[in-house]
This record gives sequence, structure tokens and C-alpha cells, in this order.
Amino acid sequence: MGDAYLRSTLTETNYPFDRLEEFAENGESLEVVLPGIEKARVLPGATTWERFSEFMPFKALHPGLSLGEGSTPLVDAGPALKSHTGIESLLLKNETMNPTWSFKDRGSIACSIMAAERGESLTATISTGNMGQSMAAYGARAGLGVLVFLPDFAPREKILAMAVHGAKVFRIGGADYADMKSRVLGLASRFSLRIVSGNGPIRAEGYKMEAFELFEALHGSVPDFVVVPSSACGHIRGVFKGFRELHAAGLIKRLPRMVVVQAAANSPLVSAIKAGSRKVVPFRNFHTIAEALTSGNPPGGEEILAKAYEHGWLAEDATEEEILESQLHYAASGFFVEPGTATTLAAVRKLRSTGAIGKGDQVVIVLTGSGMKDLDVFRLHRVELVDCDVADLEPRLASVLEKEKRP
Ligand SMILES: *Cc1c(COP(=O)(O)O)cnc(C)c1O
Repeated sequence: MGDAYLRSTLTETNYPFDRLEEFAENGESLEVVLPGIEKARVLPGATTWERFSEFMPFKALHPGLSLGEGSTPLVDAGPALKSHTGIESLLLKNETMNPTWSFKDRGSIACSIMAAERGESLTATISTGNMGQSMAAYGARAGLGVLVFLPDFAPREKILAMAVHGAKVFRIGGADYADMKSRVLGLASRFSLRIVSGNGPIRAEGYKMEAFELFEALHGSVPDFVVVPSSACGHIRGVFKGFRELHAAGLIKRLPRMVVVQAAANSPLVSAIKAGSRKVVPFRNFHTIAEALTSGNPPGGEEILAKAYEHGWLAEDATEEEILESQLHYAASGFFVEPGTATTLAAVRKLRSTGAIGKGDQVVIVLTGSGMKDLDVFRLHRVELVDCDVADLEPRLASVLEKEKRP
């Protein structure tokens, strides 16, 4: 196979694989092209990375940089979530089981490998929380310095985790997230610093491993829909790229349809897709509890719109109220996810009720991040505890048991 290179995703301009900037000169997103992918084979090996090494652009696998990310469970959603959504074949890909409790770790290992192969000793990222936390952990593992730029609304749990891993955290007040992002990205070449963004081409190489795991877990069959709560959109295009490459290599006969989900309060892509527009609809000065989905004007987002029309993707949003309800529905089935992830349940329920998703369709929802990452949201939930002293434990227990036993 030939050497990998980067290509802009709409106008198809080529760039070298080791380009420092994560977007093309005209602002389009970039993607890694692997010459000879048609001939790539699944090899024997103990890990997904080993088995799919012919699909990767790196010189080596660098297992020493891994924190044990990936190989997450694909779980049956259970009767309550199936009846809530009306979808009989509903599966959850539980990415909250990653080392820093979100799928971001898959992108971070790829960035960590890239930094190692290029001999970089410092990297930076812009994040509302999860990516910064994940890069901080992988940087700690690799001995790579990490700078994180984040807005001041990022949850405490995520900020403290970055700092404890040793990252240098810049908490930036008062800025619109999209403005802050474009300003920080603009500093990359000035300081010759690789600024890893949520929609960078290297992260997508890590995210595509999810498609390979689904391919293996479903014994070579392809789900009808893969549902991904999206913000910067690196994740959704990474997973889809994995399926495109399996298709190019002749391992699958069709592609799944992706489902883009966003919070209604900030839905630059979902609004565009619903309106049939090829331009992102920018959102500013919004507030949503789905803090992981805060890109109001995602750089390179036009690619997602183009793919959505070309491949028949679906798009749906969830209101703040629906997000909170969905978080409780997931929790009542044993899955504690963060608000950004919870958007998915309300969205698939709506898509099923309009018939966009058929009753018999097989649907995989990606549970992107853990509920433990944002406990502040409990201001908005009512959670009942039995508060009592040791002295009145017995009568309180008796009264609880009495109620629990009642039919
Ligand atoms: C980052 C993140 C998303 C959005 O992923 P993008 O690649 O930015 O589209 C969704 N959910 C969670 C929990 C995240 O951390």
C-alpha cells in the first residue's frame, strides 16, 4: 500500500499526511486517504488495532501508548428502551466504558500515535471537556505536554480531571465557543503547534475503529442505522469512514445510514438537514444542558451535510426537557449517560414515530459519554433518597418495604 495523505472532503485538494493545520486552506474538513484500501485485509490478531492494521495510516501500532480504549460492549437495549422507542432491534454501543468514560479516547490514541511518530513533545486542544480530559490522560501516558483551551461553562468534573492528569488548562471566560475555537485554531501555525480539534482527520482514524468493532460484533452484517449525537462531527464522520473503508475493501455490501442528533437549542446541522440546506445554520449565544454538543458553527460542517444528502442520513433534535427525560429513561434501564448522549433517545423515538425509522430496522445508538462527567445536571433532576438516623432506620425500612411490596 502507498503512503497515506490528506484530502479536503469537498473540493478534493491533496495535502501531506503530516500537515499541521487540521483543516484545508478553504476551511473544509480533511480526511486521510489510504491508497490501496481496496486490497486491505482483516489480519489475525488479538486486538482490533492488530486485526485492522492494514486500514491504519500509521507506521506502527504503538501499543505502549494505549490506556485500554475501545473494544466496548455492544449491548441489547432491553425491553423498556425498546418499548419506549418502538424499535425492536435496538442496540447500544457503550462508549462510556472507555478509560476517560467517552469515545474521545479513540481519537486521542490516534493523536498520541501521530505525535509520537512526528516527534512532537507538546500538543493542544480546544474542548468543552471530554476531549480535553481524554487528551490530558493520553498525554500523561505518552509523556506529551497537553494544553487545553476551554470555555468557562465546562463541567467541573471534566476540568478537574484534565488538571489532575497534568494538562495546562486555559479556562476562557465570556467567549462565544465558535469564536473562541476559530481564534485558537488560527494560532496553530503562528506557534507551530498542532491544535487537535474535534473534527480533525487524525482523530477520525481512531473513531473509525468503532465501525470495525460493530462489523465484528454483528458478524459482518451492517446495522440499518447508527445514531451519533454530534457537535464538531469528527465522531460521526470517523465511524462512517470506517464503514466506507470496509465497503471499499469488499467486506460489506452496503453502508449503514447515520443519524445526526443535536440539542434543539443548538442544532446547526440538524436544522440545515431538515431545511435541505447545504450550508450550516450557525447558532450563537445559546444555552443547552447538552454541554458536549456545543459547536454552534462546526468548522467543516458542510461535508456532513453533503454526506447526509448523498447517503440518506437522518437528522433529529431533542429539546432540553426531552434530554432530561431521556437521561432518566436511560438510567432506569441501567445506563447512566451525560446529557449530550441522552439526546439520542428522544431523537430515535421521534424518528420511529414519523416512520423514518421502520419497526424492524436494526438501530445502534452510540452512548458517547458517562453521566458521572456532569453531576451539576442534578440541579434539574429530582432524586429521592431516604435520609434518616440510625435510630429510626428500622421503622423507615419497614415503611419502605411496606410500599415496595404493595402491588
Ligand atoms: C464530543 C462529544 C460528542 C460530539 O462528538 P463530535 O465528534 O464533536 O461530533 C458527543 N457526546 C459526547 C459525550 C462527547 O464528548
